[in-house]
Amino acid sequence: MNATSPGMPPGVPGGTAPGTQAGPARARTGVRGERRFTGFAAAAGVAIGPVFRATEPEIPVTQSKIAAADIAAECARLDAAITQSRKQLTKLRARLAVLPEESQAEIAPLIDAYLRMIGPSRLVRGIRRQVEERLLSAESAVMAEAEAIAGVILAQAEPGLNAEDRAGFHRRAEEVREIGRRLVRNLTRTPFRSFAGLPDGAILVSESLRPADAALLDPSRLAGVVTDEGGADGHTAVMLRALGVPSVLGAAGLSHATRPGDIVVVDGIAGIVTLHPSAETLIAARRAVAAFARERQRYARLRRLAAETTDGEAVDLQANFELPLELPLIAQSGAHGIGLLRTEFLFMNRDSVPDENAQAETYRGIVEAMNGDPVTIRVLDWGGEKDIEALSNAGLVPDISDVNPAMGLRGLRLLLRRPELFETQLAAILRAGAYGPVRVLLPMVTTVGEVRAARETYERVARRLRRRGERVPDRLPPLGIMIETPGAALSADALALEADFFAIGTNDLTAHTLAVDRGESDVADMYNPLHPAVLRLIQFATEAALRMRMPVSLCGEMAGDPRITPLLLGLGLRAFSMNASAVPRVKQVVRSVDSDACVRFARRVMEQSDPEQIAALLAGSANPGG
Ligand code: PEP
Ligand code: MG
Repeated sequence: MNATSPGMPPGVPGGTAPGTQAGPARARTGVRGERRFTGFAAAAGVAIGPVFRATEPEIPVTQSKIAAADIAAECARLDAAITQSRKQLTKLRARLAVLPEESQAEIAPLIDAYLRMIGPSRLVRGIRRQVEERLLSAESAVMAEAEAIAGVILAQAEPGLNAEDRAGFHRRAEEVREIGRRLVRNLTRTPFRSFAGLPDGAILVSESLRPADAALLDPSRLAGVVTDEGGADGHTAVMLRALGVPSVLGAAGLSHATRPGDIVVVDGIAGIVTLHPSAETLIAARRAVAAFARERQRYARLRRLAAETTDGEAVDLQANFELPLELPLIAQSGAHGIGLLRTEFLFMNRDSVPDENAQAETYRGIVEAMNGDPVTIRVLDWGGEKDIEALSNAGLVPDISDVNPAMGLRGLRLLLRRPELFETQLAAILRAGAYGPVRVLLPMVTTVGEVRAARETYERVARRLRRRGERVPDRLPPLGIMIETPGAALSADALALEADFFAIGTNDLTAHTLAVDRGESDVADMYNPLHPAVLRLIQFATEAALRMRMPVSLCGEMAGDPRITPLLLGLGLRAFSMNASAVPRVKQVVRSVDSDACVRFARRVMEQSDPEQIAALLAGSANPGG
């Protein structure tokens, strides 16, 4: 489906969207050196620009010494970093198998060389010696030894040699430095923090990008993002959609095939990246950029129109919020408030955890900006791929490399074990509630007991604030729960007795139901929210809420996919929260369908057992009965 031929305009073949991801990444070599890489369409739009490589962040390592008694511990740190680096490189190596032979032949030897350098090598022996004999910290030892070896290699690049041989020595020296940087990055857990040198209009190309890295990007300067790793539904993709930067994730081999300054076309609609585009490809890409902008303008006209079906059923369309810079976009989208405020951004890219005042100020600013429209604030959802340094620094969370973070102490479980974290955040949210309507949302709930415990804490915090003289309403803001595990969905009837509202999180619900990692490119094509098992869980949870006349919304990525809207309406849902840019698209569908026809359509869909059949039904039903 994604093996595109050179010369085909981007945006046409193999269109991907959440739920119907592309197959494995492939590359094609074109006649004029044009090469295409296919990955996962993560954020819509088309961009053309020069490559900026972010695989080599500047890592400040000061010459630090250790005590003789710490040698063993330092060597153990070094071993752990070597193991982690091996894992990363082995994974990259395995993913190259999806590339055509000529691309593999180019990239694989480089990765093999890196792997050899961290085997039983001169480099590793030298680093260990630097730790044991010079009492250098592991990171200082790595930098010192890598630099020493690079120096020896460069000394061989004598002026008498021909240019090709000299370039070969320079390349080898750079490879030693690169593996040194990888080791140091893993030793210091340094993320890609430095985007400082990013030129305006550049395309960021990197092996991988964490959600915290994505939070640092400036969408007004950045044209596009491409990574080798990652899928369309991980949190990084969610962030990139929020930023509105055309992005393709999981384009295997691309970062090693490009050099800084190479021109690429990123098609975030089709999930295709074209390296060294031909003149025809560039013309087609420029047309696609203009067409995308025109489509945006067309949708903007929908802003003031009601979100109502043809038979007058009102539908609540709200925005998901990841980063403050989205606020203007949310206001322009016509969304009726924020249905999911992910608070993780507040904790990312900082050394310490924000205190109550700092959090209260931030929440207040957002609540006030929404001008009386409701804001649903979700308390910290640490876990899964959402690693946050400030929390590890404070010893509040387990080491993410020691545990299975997707199934460990995460979401509400973590907060109940760390009352100081939970209570601080609840207090800040309650204080912000004095400035506009808020709701509090609990992530990763699995049991009734957790909700009861959370409510006790919530009420205790409210009493404490009142004693302090803070303005807290007698009737506390609603306390709702995410339905994002199969366990929660299947006990929705019991949970509905404890919670004030449900927000169905289909991102994690899909991942946990199908046992597929959200951000893992190798299995990204198996991540399918249209799997009947996922749809049945959505149906069960929705019906449990409706029976109790309890508000229920859906806030996973599928809420923003207009093809799925008729089905979700037919299942009884009337509230959706999504990436702000998706609101007009979904509104257009809402305004074109009849709710009874949606019910009949949903019945047909729910009789199916094959996800492909379901996708085909959705594709053929842009407007059931409308
Ligand atoms: C979800 O899991 O569907 C969800 C909305 O939460 P997040 O994507 O932040 O995990
Ligand atoms: Mg979730």
